[in-house]
Amino acid sequence: METESTKSEFRVRDFFDVDKEVWNDWRWQLRNRTTRLEDLERILDLAEQEKEDIEKSLKYLKMAITPYYLSLIDQSNYNDPIRLQSIPSIHELEHMPYETEDPLKEDVYSPLPGLVHRYPDRVLLLVTDSCPTLCRHCTRRRLTEKVKKSSNHIELNKAFEYIASHREIRDVIISGGDPLILPDRMIEVIISNLRNISHIEIIRIGTRVPVTLPQRVTPELCSMLRKYHPIWINTHFNHPNEITPESSRACEMLADAGIPLGNQSVLLKGINDDVAVMKKLVQGLLKIRVRPYYLYQCDMVEGLSHFRTPVEKGIEIIEALQGFTSGLAVPTFVIDAPGMGKIPVSPQYIIGRNGDQILLRNFEGKISSYTDPS
Ligand SMILES: *Cc1c(COP(=O)(O)O)cnc(C)c1O
Repeated sequence: METESTKSEFRVRDFFDVDKEVWNDWRWQLRNRTTRLEDLERILDLAEQEKEDIEKSLKYLKMAITPYYLSLIDQSNYNDPIRLQSIPSIHELEHMPYETEDPLKEDVYSPLPGLVHRYPDRVLLLVTDSCPTLCRHCTRRRLTEKVKKSSNHIELNKAFEYIASHREIRDVIISGGDPLILPDRMIEVIISNLRNISHIEIIRIGTRVPVTLPQRVTPELCSMLRKYHPIWINTHFNHPNEITPESSRACEMLADAGIPLGNQSVLLKGINDDVAVMKKLVQGLLKIRVRPYYLYQCDMVEGLSHFRTPVEKGIEIIEALQGFTSGLAVPTFVIDAPGMGKIPVSPQYIIGRNGDQILLRNFEGKISSYTDPS
């Protein structure tokens, strides 16, 4: 895999014609994102139909791919998992009757633009609507990808005031967009303001930077973050091909800065709806010190029906992991039901009850019983 990705990186790097040092500069990566069909077709081999489809799709939804993430695509595989996550598909324009822009009803639970207060003791702070690479399966595409998007302009000072005046909030999740697309000093302003609020116990950052722009994780960023512990990071790997020398290094640097790392994957048809792929992913994540946290059922967001799998698929994957590999590698499978928050869905291991006795099955399907205290 490593030689494969190095080979295609060379092809993409040849196109950009830069040396390793420039390539590894995250600002250069951001400036050189592929956002237009004209640029994409010079780098990737595209079929005529595909070009037409992308052009149609780009009228409604934006595209952005870092040179690094683009370099992970295997040109010879039309169904490459990186390609499917980053190159627009005509299916994104198909809307199902049950799909909406904002199925999680985040806007309903927003006391202020950019702040979502859905759970009793924690809030989600959406500090930007930009990302290094725009994921084709984005749940918040109403903010990140729509060509005609509604404004969600956050007034950070108002958000800090809200959090400071709600003493029940002990956990703030900084997300977006991708907060790590911001310069270090902006991130520090946000985090230090939150740290000044005495009832805030933990600060979490939701970011896909380790996956799509690992060069962003610099020694300077790590030493800034470590001043504000306890900081936790959740990232978003979906496929083992995303575990590269670069993304491994980024995760290891963050872990070395004392930041516990979790991973939130989205179950996506044709990308990771497969036991062997998921097993390789979760085991690979533990090797780079990232703990699989959630596996999400794909939300009912407009234009994602081609990515959605039946709920049973997620249960099957969890069942195939639990007991068969390290418990640390097994995420919680959740459905973010409209307006309801995350609902965990797991395989059923209690198969019956007989008075005080609970009948259980183990991971191998063997039946046993546990007697409840009377
Ligand atoms: C996912 C989410 C959280 C965090 O949930 P945890 O289960 O604590 O990780 C908080 N607020 C909102 C609105 C969320 O969607």
